[in-house]
Amino acid sequence: MLRHAAMAVNPIIRVKPREGRRARMGAPWIFSNEIQMDAAAKALQPGTLVTVVGDDGRGFGTGSFNPKSLIAVRLFDAAADAEIGPAFFAAHFRRALARRQAFWDEPFYRLVHAEGDFLPGLVVDRFGDTAVLQVGTAGMEGLLGPMLAALDEVIAPARVLLRNDAPSRALEGLQSYVRIAKGAFDGPIAVRENGLRAFADPQAGQKTGWYYDQRENRAFMAGLARGRSVLDAFCYTGGFAIAAAKAGAAEAVGIDSSATALALANDAAAANGTAARTKFVKADVMEELARLAGRGERFDVVIADPPPFVRARKDLEPGAKAYRKLARLAASVTAENGFLFLASCSHNMPAERFAAECAAGIARAGRRAAQLRQSGAGPDHPIHPMLPETAYLKALVYALD
Ligand code: SAH
Repeated sequence: MLRHAAMAVNPIIRVKPREGRRARMGAPWIFSNEIQMDAAAKALQPGTLVTVVGDDGRGFGTGSFNPKSLIAVRLFDAAADAEIGPAFFAAHFRRALARRQAFWDEPFYRLVHAEGDFLPGLVVDRFGDTAVLQVGTAGMEGLLGPMLAALDEVIAPARVLLRNDAPSRALEGLQSYVRIAKGAFDGPIAVRENGLRAFADPQAGQKTGWYYDQRENRAFMAGLARGRSVLDAFCYTGGFAIAAAKAGAAEAVGIDSSATALALANDAAAANGTAARTKFVKADVMEELARLAGRGERFDVVIADPPPFVRARKDLEPGAKAYRKLARLAASVTAENGFLFLASCSHNMPAERFAAECAAGIARAGRRAAQLRQSGAGPDHPIHPMLPETAYLKALVYALD
C-alpha cells in the first residue's frame, strides 16, 4: 500500500512487564521507571517520536520520548507510527475550538489545555486574534513547525507568541525563551471575560498574561458582591476585584506584590468604570492581612488566590502550612456573616488536604464556617480523567458566622 510505504517508522520503546497500567487505560504518560531503559533508548534525543510497545507485544501507540524526564513517554496517538504532523494538530485544534465555542461567543479562552485536550506539553491561550503558547516538553518543542502551521489553518491568529519561559522546561532539558512567532507585539492586549474588559501583557506578564482558569469563580464571587466590601488578595491584574466592583460592590481592594500587574488592574478599573470603587495596594499579602486584622479592618467578601505554595512534591508540608496560615489570616479579616474564597493552583496539593488546611486555618482564627461551594477551573481547562493531577485548581467558598 502506498500509504504504508510513506509512513514514518519510529524507534521502538519497550515498556517493562506489568507496567504502563495507567497508559493501558488511556493515560498519556509512561514514567521512566516503567520503561526498558537500554542503551539505545538512552541514546535517543529528547523529544524523539517513538512507537511504544508492551512486553506482551501489544502497542501503546505513538508518543514522544525523553530519556532525561521522569515522564519519559507522552503518548499522542493510540496507533503505532502515527503521523504527528499538521493534520494531527489541526484535528486536535478543531475539536478543542468546538468545545470552547460551545461555551463562549467571544474568542477569549484557553484553546488548548495540554493533556486535557490530548496534546501533552502544549498550552494555547487565545486573546481574540492573538495566540499565546506555552510549550512544556521536548516532544512538543520538536513539533513547533507542524503545530504553528495547524494553528494558522484553524484560527489564523494575527499574532502568535511563544511564552516558553516556564521553569519546568528545565526538567525536559529545554532552554527558556520568549519569542514572537508571528505578527508584532507592543505591550498589553485586551481581554474580554464575563462582559468585562481587562488587560494582559503576554510578553512580560505571568504565564500567558491572564488566568482564564478563574473565570467562573470570578463570576460566582461577583454574584455575592453587590453592596458589600471586597478584599482581593493576590489580585494580579484585578480579575476578581473588578468583576466584584462591576457587579456593584461598595468597594473592592486588591493587594499584590507586582507593581506592573497593579498598573494593569488600574487600567482595567478605568476601562470598566469602576475606578472610584476599586483600590489596588502594593504589599506582601501575608503582612498586609496581619496588619489589617490587627487594625480591626473587616471585609464582607474576602478572596485569596495565591501563587502555588507547593511547587514540588517535597514542598507539601511547608506549602500546606502556608495555606493554613493564609486561611487563618484571610478569615480574620472576613466580616461577620461574610464570605471567604480560598484557592490553590498547586498540582501537588491534593484537594482533600487543601480543604483540611483551610478548615484548620479558619478554625484557628476562631471562626465557624459553612462550606458553600467547591470548584475548580472552567471548561476551557479540561481534566484528563486518567490524570487526577491535571485537576490542579481547587477553590472553596465559605460563609463565616
Ligand atoms: N487572582 C489573580 C491571580 C493570582 S496569581 C487573578 O484572578 O488573575 C498570584 C499573584 O500573587 C501574582 O499576581 C503575584 O504577583 C502575587 N504574589 C505572589 N506572592 C505574593 C506576596 N507574597 N504578596 C503579594 N502578592 C504576591
